[in-house]
Amino acid sequence: MTTGDDAVGAAAAVLGDRARRDVPLGPFTTYGVGGPAALLLEQCGPADLQLARRAVAVSGLPVLVVGRGSNLLVADRGFPGLAVTLGPDFATIATIATDGPGVVPGAPQVVRAGGAVSFPILARRTAALGLRGLEWAVGVPGSVGGAVRMNAGGHGSDVRARLTRAWLFDLAAEASSAGEVEVAAGDLALDYRRSAVTTLQVVTAAEFALTTGDRADAEAEIAEVVRWRREHQPGGANAGSVFANPDGDSAGRLIDAAGLRGHRRGSASVSSKHANFVQVDEGGSADDVQTLIEEVRNTVQTQLGVDLTVENRLVGFDPSPSSGG
Ligand SMILES: Cc1cc2nc3c(=O)[nH]c(=O)nc-3n(C[C@H](O)[C@H](O)[C@H](O)COP(=O)(O)OP(=O)(O)OC[C@H]3O[C@@H](n4cnc5c(N)ncnc54)[C@H](O)[C@@H]3O)c2cc1C
Repeated sequence: MTTGDDAVGAAAAVLGDRARRDVPLGPFTTYGVGGPAALLLEQCGPADLQLARRAVAVSGLPVLVVGRGSNLLVADRGFPGLAVTLGPDFATIATIATDGPGVVPGAPQVVRAGGAVSFPILARRTAALGLRGLEWAVGVPGSVGGAVRMNAGGHGSDVRARLTRAWLFDLAAEASSAGEVEVAAGDLALDYRRSAVTTLQVVTAAEFALTTGDRADAEAEIAEVVRWRREHQPGGANAGSVFANPDGDSAGRLIDAAGLRGHRRGSASVSSKHANFVQVDEGGSADDVQTLIEEVRNTVQTQLGVDLTVENRLVGFDPSPSSGG
């Protein structure tokens, strides 16, 4: 195993033309800021994941799987490893009837979606088929893979409530193994905005158990979620809730109570519409965002005695006690 430039060179030699060096990751994230990945392997298909596994084996480089970047903050100095995105091979949606043909209200239906599928699109597609259970996902602008990794949730539900199993490609697995394994949802340790999926595991697909119902009802629920989000959440460059809600309370309420709504640090500010959102100016700095996050966390701790946990994934920064990892 090698380190630093040697490691990047060793991985680059394995990846050849498939990977690019020093690619800014800001455009791959909803914050839109941050520095480059030392290497980027984009639009991966199954063969590319095998290639990535070989690159990791020879180099020991850290890996960052980038979904839709809607929960990611990459430091201005960048990510010194291999960033990976999934391509169209992992962007299909299939519905598998489990209870005979026809639409029997309440009958279970299984939907399998690739890790690169947009979660809001999955919500709309399943609702259009009259399938109930993922309407809330229209408000989570991530990928299916990112949603599984984060156990995304909202409006009283989460991934755990509907996920039956997932397929994980292990970039640390032996070259002789298949790489991809099927894992039952119960074995993924899905908990509030977390799971057992590691940084070296790529969620390539996920299966959800939905129920048949009325299409109009499903679509009305989708419209209501969209309306609620527009009313309560800011636009602009952000990555949703920065902090996880502490037990029985709301991070937004605490940040507001600490007088930090609208508080600014350089190019980053606490949203005046929703205090648990941080917005960053166009062309702004990821380090400003991180400094503001630390400041908010310290202020809430000092003033209110509550230790907030960062829900955003912070990448490329020095380790900090609040870092989401
Ligand atoms: C406006 C807005 C509203 C939001 N509202 C919600 C909400 O209501 N509820 C909620 O839970 N979240 C919310 N989020 C946060 C975010 O959308 C979710 O965390 C989402 O699940 C992240 O998915 P992603 O594909 O964007 O992942 P990314 O941001 O790209 O990555 C997040 C983490 O998942 C990992 N990852 C991504 N894809 C994969 C994969 N295929 N395999 C393995 N690991 C992977 C990354 O390495 C990283 O650790 C919101 C974000 C925004 C911008």
